[in-house]
Amino acid sequence: MLLPPPPSHSAQRNEAVLSLIGNTPLVELRFEPEGVTIHAKCEFLNPSGSIKDRLAQCIILDAEKRGLLGPDSIILECTSGNTGISLAMIGAALGYRVTILMSGSASRERRLCIRQFGAELILFESGASYQTGIDISLAMAAKDSRYFLPRQFENPLNAEDHVHTTAQEILWQVPHLVDAFVAGYGTGGSLAGCGKAIKARCPDARVIAMEPEEAAMLAGELPCCHWIEGIAGGFVPPLLRAAPLDGTIKVKSAEALAMTQRLNRQFGLLVGTSSGANVAAAVKIAQDLRPGACVVTLLCDRADRYFSTRLFNDDGADLEQFDANAMAARKAKD
Ligand code: PMP
Repeated sequence: MLLPPPPSHSAQRNEAVLSLIGNTPLVELRFEPEGVTIHAKCEFLNPSGSIKDRLAQCIILDAEKRGLLGPDSIILECTSGNTGISLAMIGAALGYRVTILMSGSASRERRLCIRQFGAELILFESGASYQTGIDISLAMAAKDSRYFLPRQFENPLNAEDHVHTTAQEILWQVPHLVDAFVAGYGTGGSLAGCGKAIKARCPDARVIAMEPEEAAMLAGELPCCHWIEGIAGGFVPPLLRAAPLDGTIKVKSAEALAMTQRLNRQFGLLVGTSSGANVAAAVKIAQDLRPGACVVTLLCDRADRYFSTRLFNDDGADLEQFDANAMAARKAKD
């Protein structure tokens, strides 16, 4: 479905917003009952509200340097949301048209943000996989040479940028060496890039992939429905193949939501569900390490991206029911 055209974009280049990307703080979160402290990188403070601003900036500036973008170019990407919002923001600032392909099931607030930046949104059928959207984008690009495809799932810059920015920031922000780094994966760019750079400086650090328990693909299980938006899209992404992983850790959707609500209500951090999942995993890992070990994770995006989702409309009883339903669905699939 093609929505009505967005307001016209400006051909003027306004780079101010680029200076707000990256150099995010690393905060210490003390979990009293569990008796551990973890270090959380505040990626939700990037200007469009997520870690994906880094990727969008890196890929677009690189494409400009290589002469791949001109005044007629249209940036085209299939995305679950955050990358689309980031690309729309960069397009608005640098004067490029942006078209985002998204599943019809993507939340209303994500769609509104993309359109508010003046980008065009094409929705494909709800429930179809990322691959459907990727295939549509490839077909569109084959017919029209104006399209530039950032291709976040395969583009090596996605991981490399985290090697040179996010991970370097973490390495100078931590008090000593890093003992463990844990994060979920969507494209795998942040986990692979940060993991590689942290290992290079702290060879004894453990790099752990967090997965929803309902879709623990690295652990060899079949993907099933889960509620941690932005991660575990139903396949192991190519960028993760080169990641220096020491292990995986599972977090249930219900646990992720409960920890996200705890971050919102007890820490005053209005972050989204993948941040809660990352922190839940980091707490478990810290409990297994020596007291005072330095465990680092990412707070990937802001909660205002999830107003229409269960994060804002749920209570504990429903979460337990969800868990039971998800397990039953997986058993039926097996
Ligand atoms: N959390 C959220 C909310 C995301 O949108 C993403 C990216 N899809 C991730 C985590 C994972 O990031 P990456 O693509 O670097 O694996």
